[in-house]
Formats: sequence, C-alpha cells, structure tokens
Amino acid sequence: MTKWIIKCEVCGVTRILDVGFNLFEFEKLYLYCRQCGENTPHKVLGVEDKTERV
Ligand SMILES: [Zn+2]
Repeated sequence: MTKWIIKCEVCGVTRILDVGFNLFEFEKLYLYCRQCGENTPHKVLGVEDKTERV
C-alpha cells in the first residue's frame, strides 16, 4: 500500500489516502471531502514514505 498525499482543490485541506495503485496516472481525483461535505477534485501532491523504513 502507498500513502498518497492529496489536497482538496476547493478548500485546500490535505490528507493521506492509503491505496494500492498509482495515483499519478490520474489527472484529477474526485473524492469525498469531509470539510466540503461533497465530492471535490483533489490534486496528488506526492507520496509519504519518510516515516517508515524497512
Ligand atoms: Zn475540501
């Protein structure tokens, strides 16, 4: 699983999305934003992998 850092383009809140596929393949992600209360376009900022080491 990869932890992706995504940002809501409407309200600007960032959060982590833990999924097993490559989000960089998506131009735009439409996901539910709790702050907006609806599905909004999200931007993929990057991958969070600094905290875990094997
Ligand atoms: Zn939002």
